[in-house]
Amino acid sequence: MVLAQLGGSISRAIQQMSNATIIDEKVLNECLNEITRALLQADVQFKLVREMQTNIKKIVNLDDLAAGHNKRRIIQQAIFNELCKILDPGKPSFTPKKGKPSVIMFVGLQGSGKTTTCTKYAYYHQKKGWKPALVCADTFRAGAFDQLKQNATKAKIPFYGSYTESDPVRIAVEGVETFKKENCDLIIVDTSGRHKQEAALFEEMRQVSEATNPDLVIFVMDSSIGQAAFDQAQAFKQSVSVGAVIVTKMDGHAKGGGALSAVAATKSPVIFIGTGEHMDEFEVFDVKPFVSRLLG
Ligand code: GDP
Repeated sequence: MVLAQLGGSISRAIQQMSNATIIDEKVLNECLNEITRALLQADVQFKLVREMQTNIKKIVNLDDLAAGHNKRRIIQQAIFNELCKILDPGKPSFTPKKGKPSVIMFVGLQGSGKTTTCTKYAYYHQKKGWKPALVCADTFRAGAFDQLKQNATKAKIPFYGSYTESDPVRIAVEGVETFKKENCDLIIVDTSGRHKQEAALFEEMRQVSEATNPDLVIFVMDSSIGQAAFDQAQAFKQSVSVGAVIVTKMDGHAKGGGALSAVAATKSPVIFIGTGEHMDEFEVFDVKPFVSRLLG
């Protein structure tokens, strides 16, 4: 279910409820069940939806509704606040400072859009006057270095990698050292993804992280992975200290729910979203406008 549809379903559920002559518990429950269905279809994790339902029931006072207050507004506001709460882990992510070297490590499964996102992140900062650099520590996938090299060249961003070295930790460390010497202030380490969550991948991430000591680890997630989002995000969080999330492929058939799950699983904020294959199809993520759009 795409965002617009989700907003439509929720708006319809609220509309139906406010059309009812008497708002009693039954009518409110029906409305909340509709909303629950819409959120589940948008891939918000079941547990999160249940919690949200309970919270809304606590907040929304039936007596207020019966007294003829604007029911629609009260419920909509409660849903808005609950969704914002899920998306706001309560502490901002590490923010790099221009002119001071920061190491940013990207993690995520193969195909999540990690390499593309590394370049987008570098390009976004370069346009704002930063000196970014890209390190390809993916020695697992043949062609990974070429892809990063191609992207980096297009964006005129310095890059580091190797066709022959098979140790990702070594490349990561050498790359970071090289760019620190060159006074780059945003050293971005792209890592291997593999096809699925597997022990070897997480062990590799742990080693690269330990060796490069990143200021921030960003978990990149494909928005179309559906209900798998929570477990996947949690699995990465358990091996490296994920501090921020970027959700890709929010264009097309993007599902919004996975973003909520990733935040809940990593207790880290979404900082950007990817909205296309091109380098500049990248947006800063803001909780409130996102939720407004979600609710239609
Ligand atoms: P990686 O294996 O995680 O490094 O993933 P890639 O960066 O190679 O991306 C996998 C595919 O997803 C590529 O075809 C990218 O062009 C595409 N992609 C990445 N981000 C986005 C996005 O935000 N929107 C769309 N439509 N495609 C994306």
